[in-house]
Amino acid sequence: MPLPLIYHDDYSPQFPPEHRFPMDKFRLLRDHLVDSGLTRDADLLRPAVCPADTLALAHDRDYIERFMSGQLGREDQRRLGLPWSEALARRTVRAVGGSLLAAEQALQHGLACHLAGGTHHAHYDHPAGFCIFNDLAIISRYLLASGRVGSVLIFDCDVHQGDGTARILANTPDAITVSLHCEKNFPARKADSDWDIPLPMGMGDADYLQVVDDTLNYLLPLYKPDLVLYDAGVDVHKDDALGYLQLTDAGVSARDERVLRHCLGRDIAVMGVIGGGYSKDRPALARRHGLLHHSAQRVWTDLGL
Ligand SMILES: [Zn+2]
Repeated sequence: MPLPLIYHDDYSPQFPPEHRFPMDKFRLLRDHLVDSGLTRDADLLRPAVCPADTLALAHDRDYIERFMSGQLGREDQRRLGLPWSEALARRTVRAVGGSLLAAEQALQHGLACHLAGGTHHAHYDHPAGFCIFNDLAIISRYLLASGRVGSVLIFDCDVHQGDGTARILANTPDAITVSLHCEKNFPARKADSDWDIPLPMGMGDADYLQVVDDTLNYLLPLYKPDLVLYDAGVDVHKDDALGYLQLTDAGVSARDERVLRHCLGRDIAVMGVIGGGYSKDRPALARRHGLLHHSAQRVWTDLGL
């Protein structure tokens, strides 16, 4: 069977083209993966929207309602940094549904990747940094509550710390939060993940990959999670507009492939979300996000899954 990939046309709604957040990148990523022969549009799995009751496993119900009805206060609107619209609300719950579907596919088949996801700055009752609902925290709570997993490990390699995830899951011991991030990047005030690995500005491929290997070689045998949620943010790239690390395309690609092999080599299911990536060169950005899916395809083929 083909590698499970999850996408929906709701992901890239009409959006101000000059906005700092590249909302068209999800559609461009889909186009890139189809054009490069990795998948066919008809093979992409389309998610349902995530129900409010599931969102409420990790979020305040009043906050969910305020956002969905376009009633965020001015301070929340400022922290979010995205203009509200019906289409934004729909894409938001659709994308959480997509991460959920990716996690379920990963549990079933070992590996699955989303063409969106990784909204790790979203907090219990407010948005932050382009993130509204925290898919990683929601999935963790949902799968733990339903007994589908005994433990889940979130391996967050976005250049920014997964502060929302860390705070929401602070008292959920069976969801282990791990964040590798540049110490100088947003957020200025860091949360306490179970494991924080702050990295110095300017770190390049070789040193970074060593940290990834060392971290997973230590943590995966330690926790033996049933599922890893991997945030493959590409804002670690040297050409990213917001990140302070210096990875190349080859470095990002090697990182993704290693993370997936670390998990699958230990019989741990893993799902990938794309996380952050900010670049004015949108086709380059889409290709960069696609490194995850191409890495996943290599691993999938090698394992004969
Ligand atoms: Zn980021």
